[in-house]
Amino acid sequence: MSDKTPSRANVCTEVVAHDLCIGCGLCAGVCPNEHLRVAFNAFGEYVAFENPNECAASCDLCLRVCPFSPTSKDEDVLGKKCFEDVPGMSHASETGYYLRTVLGYSAADGHRANGASGGLLTWTLETLLARGLVDRVACVSPVREADRAMKFTMCSTAEEVRAASRSAYYPVEISEMIRTMLSRPGRYVITVLPCFAKAIRQAMEAVPRLRERVAFVLGLACGGGKSKFYAEYICAMGGGDAHRLDRVTFRIKDPERPASDHGTRCVSAAGTPEEHACTVFGSEGPSLAWTHLYFTPIACSFCDDGFAELADGTFMDAWRPGFMEDPGGHSIVILRNQTLSDLFRDGMASGALAMRDVDIAEAIASQPSMLHFKRTLIRERIRLAAEMGQRVPPKRPHRFAPRVRHLEKAVVRARWDTCRQSRKQWVEADKDLARFRRAMAPCAARVERAMQISKAVYQPQAIPGALWRRLRNLVKR
Ligand SMILES: Cc1cc2nc3c(=O)[nH]c(=O)nc-3n(C[C@H](O)[C@H](O)[C@H](O)COP(=O)(O)OP(=O)(O)OC[C@H]3O[C@@H](n4cnc5c(N)ncnc54)[C@H](O)[C@@H]3O)c2cc1C
Repeated sequence: MSDKTPSRANVCTEVVAHDLCIGCGLCAGVCPNEHLRVAFNAFGEYVAFENPNECAASCDLCLRVCPFSPTSKDEDVLGKKCFEDVPGMSHASETGYYLRTVLGYSAADGHRANGASGGLLTWTLETLLARGLVDRVACVSPVREADRAMKFTMCSTAEEVRAASRSAYYPVEISEMIRTMLSRPGRYVITVLPCFAKAIRQAMEAVPRLRERVAFVLGLACGGGKSKFYAEYICAMGGGDAHRLDRVTFRIKDPERPASDHGTRCVSAAGTPEEHACTVFGSEGPSLAWTHLYFTPIACSFCDDGFAELADGTFMDAWRPGFMEDPGGHSIVILRNQTLSDLFRDGMASGALAMRDVDIAEAIASQPSMLHFKRTLIRERIRLAAEMGQRVPPKRPHRFAPRVRHLEKAVVRARWDTCRQSRKQWVEADKDLARFRRAMAPCAARVERAMQISKAVYQPQAIPGALWRRLRNLVKR
């Protein structure tokens, strides 16, 4: 068979066609024939597309690097290769390998105020650059481009790194970064979500040049990604024009609110007489999009790694009593790399970091909802997928909770619908918030009802008396 014969199996046939592409872009970044590219689909999600040039029939590189491919390795196997031999390394079922866990924030000017939580990831990136441990940083910056408001950029100065602080609850892809790493010698650090960390570790196994050049992989804990529609939805909620969203900034802190109630600032129709700016806080509506899984890519339903187990360091919010109320923000960091651990030790000794060592149990306890979603409810999502003929990538059922409680199954079923309906309805409503809400009302009500019933039965102490009476009426109906 000629090498020019189109391949029958690649990420488009095995992953995208099954609605499992997370749009990370690793496949396009390493594709030797430039047969693949990543672009937005009709739902504002990045997915891989095929270019007209041919796919080499003998090549399966895209499937080897894809985190959701049917042949992908799991995080246990990959984690073992990366970290098992590091002296002093321990392992927890929930977080994967860990060397050290720390809690606190960066005391350096501006990091914490402009950071998503404690500004620690920005401090780490800046310090790696300052110490000459890396030449360039691939992280996510705000941009003003026709079709996107954020993208991966290559930074080489502290100023550029600082301008890229905060979380991007927005689709980003790394194909361009990977191509730069392959063509331009140097040592790189990259900031990634767990699925991207898996893709990059698989790519480092397959492509020696990447293995030489990627010095550090720094991860963010992740409860699930969001499509572009999420930012548009918040823009509309704040009274802006969702069709003309130009800029979005997530994780705005307000001294009057707890860290968990963070804001999103949207600017639409910038530079025109209709320019509109707004900041909408989580409790004013956007939180619902997280509990109802609005605009969450389908692939996230089948992810069992919330702690970026394959990253050299994982950065997360300290969602712990005593810390989450503080508007300034605290982070927890799981370190899996000795150089990073030394960096943190020096930072703590010099006062650049206001931090202390904590037990890994603190990190686990800080993420109850994420863990419940990824390690308990996933069992029911996989069962539903089988029922509906949806392909599921290889998972680690031995890491899951043994069973899903009966009433929670109804919650999973209802959210399965809101997740899928939301992306369709936002298109059909032509990004009009009132029309979208009307269309979503029946399935959103099903989620609410299922959640309240489940809470009433499994956590009755959390239900105030008046709500109990409403619930009883709901159940009677
Ligand atoms: C989609 C998503 C879901 C998350 N879910 C959780 C969760 O469930 N629980 C939890 O504790 N934390 C979660 N986080 C992480 C959290 O929001 C903070 O990013 C983290 O605590 C680091 O804060 P920091 O102040 O140290 O980072 P900062 O100092 O603000 O630096 C953040 C760095 O991360 C980079 N970055 C931001 N977004 C992305 C992205 N999408 N991909 C790659 N790089 C990025 C930025 O460019 C910047 O360099 C999530 C983040 C994202 C993007």
